[in-house]
Amino acid sequence: MSNTSSLDVIASLCKRRGFIFHSSEVYGGINGFWDYGPLGCEMKRNIKDAWWQAMVRDREDVAGLDATIIMHPAIWKASGHLDTFSDPMCTCKSCKKLMRADQVDDILTDGEIGKTLQALLDEHADYGKIAGWCKGKGKGLAPNLPAVTDPDALTAAVEKLKADPACATTLSALYALLGAGAPSTRCPYCGGELTEPRPFNLMFKTIVGPVDDPSNVAYLRPETAQAIFAQFLNVYATSRMSVPFGIAQMGKSFRNEVTPRNYTFRSREFEQMELEFFIKPDEAVELLYGKVTTMADQPDLSVPQKEWGWEVWHKYWVEQRKKWIIACGLPKDSFVEYWQKPDELAHYARACVDIEYAFPFGVQELEGIAARSDFDLTQHQKHSGKSMEVFDEPLKQVCSKMDETAKAAFVEKVAAEWQSRGKDPEAARAFARKLFEGRYIPHVIEPSAGVDRMMLALLCNAYEEQKLVDEKGKEDTRVVMHFSPKVAPVKVAVFPLVKNKPEVYNKAREIFEYLRRRTAAFWDEGGAIGRRYRRQDEVGTPWCITVDFQTAEDDTFTVRERDSMKQERMTLAQFKAMLDEALVF
Ligand code: ATP
Repeated sequence: MSNTSSLDVIASLCKRRGFIFHSSEVYGGINGFWDYGPLGCEMKRNIKDAWWQAMVRDREDVAGLDATIIMHPAIWKASGHLDTFSDPMCTCKSCKKLMRADQVDDILTDGEIGKTLQALLDEHADYGKIAGWCKGKGKGLAPNLPAVTDPDALTAAVEKLKADPACATTLSALYALLGAGAPSTRCPYCGGELTEPRPFNLMFKTIVGPVDDPSNVAYLRPETAQAIFAQFLNVYATSRMSVPFGIAQMGKSFRNEVTPRNYTFRSREFEQMELEFFIKPDEAVELLYGKVTTMADQPDLSVPQKEWGWEVWHKYWVEQRKKWIIACGLPKDSFVEYWQKPDELAHYARACVDIEYAFPFGVQELEGIAARSDFDLTQHQKHSGKSMEVFDEPLKQVCSKMDETAKAAFVEKVAAEWQSRGKDPEAARAFARKLFEGRYIPHVIEPSAGVDRMMLALLCNAYEEQKLVDEKGKEDTRVVMHFSPKVAPVKVAVFPLVKNKPEVYNKAREIFEYLRRRTAAFWDEGGAIGRRYRRQDEVGTPWCITVDFQTAEDDTFTVRERDSMKQERMTLAQFKAMLDEALVF
C-alpha cells in the first residue's frame, strides 16, 4: 500500500499527529531517544499485546517473565557483553565526530557529500567537473578532504582519473581517490582523516548505591534475553513445564549506539520482545525417539513434534514469527529472510535468520531468530557455579534399558560428530554420559524482535497519499494510514452528525461510552463530517461511526470504512461483532 514514502514524511506525520516526538524536545532533544505520544503509545501497546498473545497466552509451552533492567553485573560478564559487546568505532581527527566503522559508507551515501558526488557519477561527469566540485561545493561540504584542501592531492586525483576514468566509478572509490587514501578512511561528514577502528562498549554504565566506586558499577541491560537465562532455574522450577518450553520477556533495553540514525530504527533506548525457547539437544532426542527430524525430512511445521531436532525448531520459529508479522499487517512480500552465512555466525550459533524489512532507507533487520545451542546457559553455569541442567526422567528410563556396548557406541558416535564440527571430543563424551543419567543443559532458539522497529515498519508500510477527485471534479489528496485494525491506535471514531440536537448528540455519546469501555474509541464533534473522516484517515482509524436523526428511530448508524470509504448502516450489536472479529489475532 505504501507509495515508498520518505522517512521525513512519516516523521513529520508522526510528530503532527502525536505518534512520536523527539525526547526532551523543549531542550533541543537528545540524540537517539524518542517519546511515543498519545497515538504512538496506544499503537506500541497494541504491538506488544499482539506479541504477548501470540508468544505466551496462545501457547501452553511458554511462560512470561518481567525482570529488572539493572541486574547483577556478573550476568554481563557471563554473557560476554562486558568483553565483546562492542562496535568498532572511528573518530574523525578534524571534526571529532564518532561513527561506527561499518557505517562510514552508509553515512557518506546518505549525506550531502555523497549525494552531490553521486549525482556527478550518475551523469558520468569527467575529471574536470569533479575538480570543479572540489573547488566549489566540496569546499563547503568536505572542508577537510585532501583534494579540496591540497592542490597537489587534487592534481594527483585528476591525473589518475584522466589516465583511467574507470578507477572511480563508485562513490566510495571516488571519495577514496579525492581523500588520497584507501576506502572508508575519510570522514563522511567533513573529509577529515579517520582514526583506526577501536572497540567501544555499547552498555550504559551506572552506579548502584550511594558510593561512586568502581565496585558499584552496574549496567542498563542491552537486551532482555539475559534475564531469562539468569532466571531459568526459577521459572523451570515454578512453571511445571518440561523441555521443550519457552520463557518470554519484553521491555526496555539500552545501547549506547555510536550513531543513532534513521529515526527510531537505531535508538539508544528501545523495547525488545524476546523468547528463549529451550529444546532438548539432538542427541537426547535421538536416544528418546530413535531418530531426529531434520529439514531434509521436509517436516510439516504447523504443529511441533517431539522428534524435531534444533534445525526444525529453528525453522518453525522463523515461520511463526513471519506469520505474526503478516498478522500485524506487513505484506509478506515486504520482508525477506536473510540466512547468515557460516562466517557471519557467532561461534556458538548454529543458524541465524534476520527478518529484513524494506524500510525507505534500505532493507534492514526487523528481528532475528537465532539457534544459540547451549551457549548461554552453559556460560551462566560456569560463572554462577549453579547447575543449569534439567533432569529428564523419560530419557533416563530409555537409557537404563541400553546395554554397555550400545552406550559406548553412542558415546563414540557423539564424539566423532562433535569433532567434525571442531568441538572437543572429550567434552562430547562427558555430555553423552550425562545424557544416560537423564541430564543435559537445554539448547535454545531465540526469536528476538524490536517493538520500535516493528512500529516503524508498520508506519512506513501504512502511509499512502491518495489522489482523489470529488463529485464536482475537484482534485484532492487524502493521507491515509492503512493500519491493520489489530495495531491501529484508535479502532473507531464516533461522530454526532450535529451538536445541537440532543436526540442525536446524546445517542452518539451513549454509543461512544459503550465502545470506549471495550476498545480504543475516539470522540470528535468538530467540523464537517468529511473533515472528521480525513483526520481519522490520517491516523489510520479503521471505522468511523456517524450518528444521525435516523439513529434515534431505528438504532442504526453509518459506519464508514477507512480503505474503501464505503458507508453502511449497522446496529451497535452488528458493529461490535464485526469489530471483535477483526481484532482477533
Ligand atoms: P543491528 O544489527 O541492527 O544493530 P542487532 O543484530 O544488534 O541489530 P539484536 O541484538 O539481535 O540486534 O537485537 C534484537 C532486535 O532488537 C533487533 O532485531 C531490533 O529489532 C532490536 N534492536 C536492536 N538494537 C536496536 C536499536 N538500537 N534500536 C532499536 N531497536 C533495536
